[in-house]
Amino acid sequence: MALLNKKLNVDYIKRSINPFDFYSHELPGAPLKKHDWNDGGLCPFHADNSTGSFRVNLTTGAFKCFACGIAGSDVIAFIMALYGLQFAEALAKLADDWGLAW
Ligand SMILES: [Zn+2]
Repeated sequence: MALLNKKLNVDYIKRSINPFDFYSHELPGAPLKKHDWNDGGLCPFHADNSTGSFRVNLTTGAFKCFACGIAGSDVIAFIMALYGLQFAEALAKLADDWGLAW
């Protein structure tokens, strides 16, 4: 039962956070449009000094850097990688940051 609830929470959190809103918040200054793969501006995972290598997907929340090689499939993976959090900690941070009860 606990596992089922956890799964529902993950789906709920992913559904509740729009990737465009999420990356607009996490990557201030990035020239984001609305859908699919976008230029994410400077990569937050390595000492980046020119844009063009860091991409974010505003449909799925996935991210990828062609310079340092980091990649993930959704906003939860982004939060885990950026802040060095475990999965459950990342969910809690997202719920807290985005005002989601769970
Ligand atoms: Zn990078």
